Amino acid sequence: MSLSLRAAPFPDTMAIAADPARLETPRLIALNSSLAGDLDLPPDWLAGPDGVAFLAGQALPDGIRPVAQAYAGHQFGQFVPQLGDGRAHLLGVVTDMSGQTRDIQLKGSGPTPFSRRGDGLAALGPVLREYLVSEGMAALGVPTTRSLAALLTGERVWRDTPQPGAILVRVATSHLRVGTFQYFAARENREALDFLSALAIERHYPDAADTAHPVRTLYEKVVNAQADLVAQWMSLGFVHGVMNTDNMALSGETIDYGPCAFLDVYRPDTVFSAIDRDGRYRFENQPRMAGWNLARLAETLLPLIDSDEDRALSWAQTALSGFGPAYEAHYLARMRRKLGLQLSEEADMALVSDLLAMMTRRELDYTLTFRRLSNGLSLTEGETDDGEENWIARWKARQARESRSRDDQLASMRETNPAIIPRNHRIAQAIAAAEQGDYSPFRTLLTHIATPFRDDPDYATPPMPAERVTTTYCGT
Ligand code: AMP
Ligand code: MG
Ligand code: MG
Repeated sequence: MSLSLRAAPFPDTMAIAADPARLETPRLIALNSSLAGDLDLPPDWLAGPDGVAFLAGQALPDGIRPVAQAYAGHQFGQFVPQLGDGRAHLLGVVTDMSGQTRDIQLKGSGPTPFSRRGDGLAALGPVLREYLVSEGMAALGVPTTRSLAALLTGERVWRDTPQPGAILVRVATSHLRVGTFQYFAARENREALDFLSALAIERHYPDAADTAHPVRTLYEKVVNAQADLVAQWMSLGFVHGVMNTDNMALSGETIDYGPCAFLDVYRPDTVFSAIDRDGRYRFENQPRMAGWNLARLAETLLPLIDSDEDRALSWAQTALSGFGPAYEAHYLARMRRKLGLQLSEEADMALVSDLLAMMTRRELDYTLTFRRLSNGLSLTEGETDDGEENWIARWKARQARESRSRDDQLASMRETNPAIIPRNHRIAQAIAAAEQGDYSPFRTLLTHIATPFRDDPDYATPPMPAERVTTTYCGT
C-alpha cells in the first residue's frame, strides 16, 4: 500500500523528529471512514493490520519521520516560553479530495522532547470526548479539527487512577497556533516568523498572497475567522474551556478539545473546567478571550507588519479593533438565523437578549429551547408565563415583517437549531461504558450526533437533574 503521506514541511528549529512509543498490541476502537475517504486513505486498509499499525504510529511510509512541533503560549494569562507537542506526533501531511493540505497527528502517542514532566500519554476518556465533540462540531458545520481514528494502546496510563491508554488520530488543516508564533517571537527569530506566516497564508488564506501586504491580510483574515468561529460557539452554547493561546489555531478551526462541553441550562457564567477557578474561559467571556489572544498574535507579527515600530503598532491596533464589530456582526447573523429571520432590524439584538435572559431566569435548556421554537412549540411543556407570551408575540410580529411564510421560517430554523448535540452527560455515559469495555453507547452517540438536525427524543432530551455533568477535567 503506498500512502500519499508526505513529511511535514518544518525546518529543524520548528519541529523535532520524534518517534511514537512502541506498542505491542494497539487496537482500533473507532475509524472515521467518511473522513478517510475525504483524505483519499482507503478505509478498508486502515481497518486492517497494516492500517492499524500506521494509525498507531508503528509503521510509517519510507522516508517519513514524525515530528513534535515547538510552540509557546499564554496559559490562563501566564506566558510559558516553551510548551510544544508533549504528547503528540505529527506524522505528516496529505492532500485531501478538495486539494487542501491536511496534517495527520497522533495524540497520546508517547513522550517527545517537549514532554517536560508529562508522560506523553492520553487516557481513553479524553480521547473519546475529543472524538465525539469534534465530530459533533463538524456535523454542526463548525470549523474544527477532525477525528480520523481512536485506538487503545493496550497499556495503562496513570492519572488519579489507572486508566486505559488511548491515541487519537487527529486531522487539521494545520497545527499552527498563536503559540507557535509566540515561540519564535519570544526568541526574536524573524526568519521563522516569515516562514510561519508564509505557511499560514499558503495553507489557509492563499488569496492573501496576492494582496499588497500579505502578512497584514493574513492577520485580518485570522481576526475575522476567529470572530466567526467564536460567534458559532456562542450561537451553539459551546464552551471550549481552555482558550490558551496555544489552543487557538490560525486556521480558525476549533482545536484542542479538553474540558469542553455544551451548555444545558443557559447560564452565561458557566464553566465546566475543573481548573478554571476564576472563570477566565466561562461561556460569556469567550469573545473577549479570543480578542485577547489575537492581541498576542499581533505582537508576534509587529516586525512583519511594518519596519517602523510605531506604525506597526498603530496598524495592529486598528486591525484588532475590528474584532469586536466583526464578532457582533457574525453573532447577530447567526442568532437571526436561529430565529428564522433574514432581514435586519435594529431591535433584533434586544429580541435575542430578552430570550436569553428568559432562559436564564427559567433555567431553560439552550439547545432544546431553540429546537422547540423551531417546531412551533412553547418554550417548555409546562405553562407559559406573561414574559414568554410577551416575547412570543414580539417574535411573531417580527416574523410577520419577513417575506417568507412562518412555516418556511420554522423549516429553516430546523436546519440551523440542532436537536442533537454531544451532550455532556451522554459523553460521560459513553466514556464510563467504554472504560468497562462496552463501546456501544459511544457508537450510538456518534451515530446520533452525525445527524444533529433530526428530531430524536432519546438523544435530544436534556439531562435529568441527577444526570447533569457540570465539571469536566482537563484533557489529559
Ligand atoms: P493542553 O492543556 O492539552 O493544551 O496542553 C498544554 C501543554 O501540555 C502542551 O505542551 C501539551 O503537549 C502538554 N501536555 C499535556 N498533557 C501532557 C502529557 N500527558 N504528557 C506530556 N505533555 C503533556
Ligand atoms: Mg493544547
Ligand atoms: Mg489538550
